[in-house]
Amino acid sequence: RSLPADPSTEIRSRQVPGAAYSFTPPTPVADPQLLGWSDDLGAQLGLARPARRDAAVEALAGNRILPGMQPYAARYGGHQFGNWAGQLGDGRAITLGEMFDTHGQRQELQLKGAGPTPYSRRADGRAVLRSSVREFLCSEAMFHLGIPTTRALSLVATGDTVVRDMFYDGRPENEPGAIVCRVAPSFVRFGHFEILTSHDETALLGQLADWVMTHHYPGIGSYADWFAEICRRTATLMVEWMRVGFVHGVMNTDNMSILGLTIDYGPYGWLEGVDMMWTPNTTDAQGRRYCYGRQPQIGYWNLTRLAAALAPLIDDRDAIDAALEGYEQTFSDGWTAMLANKLGLPMPAAGDDADADMRSRLFLLLQEEECDFTIFFRQLAGVPLAAAAAGDAAALAPLHAAFYSGDGPSADHGRALLGWLQQWAARISAGGEPDAARIARMNATNPKYVVRNWLAQRAIDDATAGDTGMIERLLKMMRRPYDEQPEFDDLAGRRPEWARHKPGCSALSCSS
Ligand code: AMP
Ligand code: MG
Ligand code: MG
Repeated sequence: RSLPADPSTEIRSRQVPGAAYSFTPPTPVADPQLLGWSDDLGAQLGLARPARRDAAVEALAGNRILPGMQPYAARYGGHQFGNWAGQLGDGRAITLGEMFDTHGQRQELQLKGAGPTPYSRRADGRAVLRSSVREFLCSEAMFHLGIPTTRALSLVATGDTVVRDMFYDGRPENEPGAIVCRVAPSFVRFGHFEILTSHDETALLGQLADWVMTHHYPGIGSYADWFAEICRRTATLMVEWMRVGFVHGVMNTDNMSILGLTIDYGPYGWLEGVDMMWTPNTTDAQGRRYCYGRQPQIGYWNLTRLAAALAPLIDDRDAIDAALEGYEQTFSDGWTAMLANKLGLPMPAAGDDADADMRSRLFLLLQEEECDFTIFFRQLAGVPLAAAAAGDAAALAPLHAAFYSGDGPSADHGRALLGWLQQWAARISAGGEPDAARIARMNATNPKYVVRNWLAQRAIDDATAGDTGMIERLLKMMRRPYDEQPEFDDLAGRRPEWARHKPGCSALSCSS
């Protein structure tokens, strides 16, 4: 490593000026047991699934440091909910080191919940089982959905309890602790750069930028071109989140990956009823800063914070503005193409957006009566074109399953939707694409299976009672999210009514 490390070996919480990271050993836990393992990521890393209690599990819990590991916690800052928060850093994440996977790609292995670091502030450095199950499941689900993400190799119960004071009803509660081993080429965030610029540590800023560019952006020659590429990747990530109805929930700049990966799975959620203003994060229920529909704008705002942090390296203001305009262009082109695939419409030529009106009318319609995002789009491929073109109500039948009323749209709403479907069918016919090709395109864009919060909560409840069957089942289901898998159809329906207001099953707090 060519970046300056904190010379102190203390883990006492403190400001750590002048360093990019601090050497920090994980704090051992009582009784590590493997609860989850990603077989395909293990294979990619050349690692076999360990037994429930095993020397490898000791390493994945931080109880055993293997030769070559040099554990450290990174220093970063961030804008949280729009405000500069100063130094944050890896308060409970500890990187063990890097290894090469079977593709020759460098991968960083990082334990989340491995104990206090100099960046823990007043917190304990630990993670609860429920949030660890959620991160483990969702990172693997996102990967198989084809969305850039950090990954999760293992989920280990610590055998220790953790106290969280915001758990559902505000009473302090002892909860089981866990550690996820996350894997990514890098966990560097926008906030890594922000903290350096906020302290006028310009030489270190240049060193960190060079380090990231050399290792992760080979072939990019200038800081301005690099920033433009980060803008493009972030825009693409926003298109992908919007495609599957994923809501991150805490898009603070410390949770934005410099590689354009989905990172830090906290109170995330999946759109169920279509609602642009929906957020899973109860801490954000007032402002809805991080709701579904605002994610693209927030991505842009976060890039403006990164631009400010990189400004000491980039003299050319116009290049920064051009990169930010590149974000808007990449997003709008990507959004148009993504929705053409979702809806099975002809792919528009560059600059042509003839279907914009039709799309916005659909989103307005879908918000009128509670209608499930995932199910509606998946079922759309099954709407018979001839019936839709004729305005025949039979066209609506495949969509009934998406409506939370339980028996399809109301008569008025059904008529409005049918009007839209008529126009949709006409557009598709005019495009002349063979049905089979169009349906395949739609099914490869609209997943059948997502890890809805109520499903993750079932896996959590079972795992808390020692049963990891649901974790295994969800992992298996999410390995092929676009294929019909009848054995998982009990997990592909609308959120049941009992889950609507049950903590963890729809909305969540930040407590983790
Ligand atoms: P988050 O909201 O989870 O992205 O966390 C924001 C900051 O708080 C990051 O620097 C985290 O490392 C830190 N943090 C969150 N939870 C804990 C914890 N239990 N112990 C120490 N630091 C934490
Ligand atoms: Mg975070
Ligand atoms: Mg977090």
